[in-house]
Amino acid sequence: MKTAKLANTFRVDSDKHFRLKDFNPADTGHWHSKEHAEEALQQGIVRMAELQDKLYAQDRWALLMIFQAMDAAGKDGIIKHVMSGVNPQGCQVYSFKAPSDLELQHDFLWRTTRDLPERGHIGIFNRSYYEEVLVVRVHSGILKSQKTPPSLVSKKIWDERFEDIRGFERHMARSGTVIRKFFLNVSKKEHKQRFLARLEEPEKNWKFSASDIQERQYWDDYQKAYEDMIRNTATKHSPWYVVPADNKWFTRLVVSCVIVDTLESLDLSYPKVDDAKRRELAAAKKLLLKK
Ligand code: ATP
Ligand code: MG
Repeated sequence: MKTAKLANTFRVDSDKHFRLKDFNPADTGHWHSKEHAEEALQQGIVRMAELQDKLYAQDRWALLMIFQAMDAAGKDGIIKHVMSGVNPQGCQVYSFKAPSDLELQHDFLWRTTRDLPERGHIGIFNRSYYEEVLVVRVHSGILKSQKTPPSLVSKKIWDERFEDIRGFERHMARSGTVIRKFFLNVSKKEHKQRFLARLEEPEKNWKFSASDIQERQYWDDYQKAYEDMIRNTATKHSPWYVVPADNKWFTRLVVSCVIVDTLESLDLSYPKVDDAKRRELAAAKKLLLKK
């Protein structure tokens, strides 16, 4: 299957009909095993590296990838996989945890804005401003502890945040930052297995946090919040990908297809060498050969 086709299967770019339950977390397309997908996975990594090199050299576009998911859905693993092929010089990863005191002194987009990728670069957000319509929505106490003037916090707050996020992402798109957003869609059953593994396998113990189990009790609220988030913020220029996450190898394959497909669509090329540059290169060569 072509990368574009696989990427498009999980793409959501308009609000109309999106329902989370239409997407199967255990889907693996026509691949039946990790071994079966191995070659495609390797090709994806190689192609990604070639395209990133051009992105960097051309220095016009930036690519921002946003990952959102429940704990243990595989965000860290997928980021490691994406990073395995690219040149670290042109790629930065940022993780966003509960906001600091300084961050709470500002609007909710401020802290992520500081870390946006520059032209020619790939930026990866492990969580993002979308937490403001996820964890903050599921736990209403967090909204109260933020410092927005109370008269500005009404029932419309979530619609207003969606509108602001759409406006922000439109602005970024118009300035040359291409945004691709990934929701790693793990099933409740597989989620339980991953937590059990964290408890039972010594080398995974360090990943376990009791608070993650607490969050699991809010599973349905989170699912609703993810669905509403995607419905309200999926756009043509800044689509969501609802990536099946019960099989990690398939998650990796889909994400790498999306990245390759996105970079291919930018028509990247190395800067042209003009006559002046050619003369400069020839002069440098002459100088080098002299000694
Ligand atoms: P992760 O959980 O992403 O693998 P981690 O375990 O290293 O990373 P945590 O200390 O769990 O890091 O930090 C992530 C936590 O921060 C999540 O529970 C998330 O919901 C919370 N968080 C992120 N952004 C916000 C926000 N804007 N407001 C409140 N909580 C937030
Ligand atoms: Mg955590």
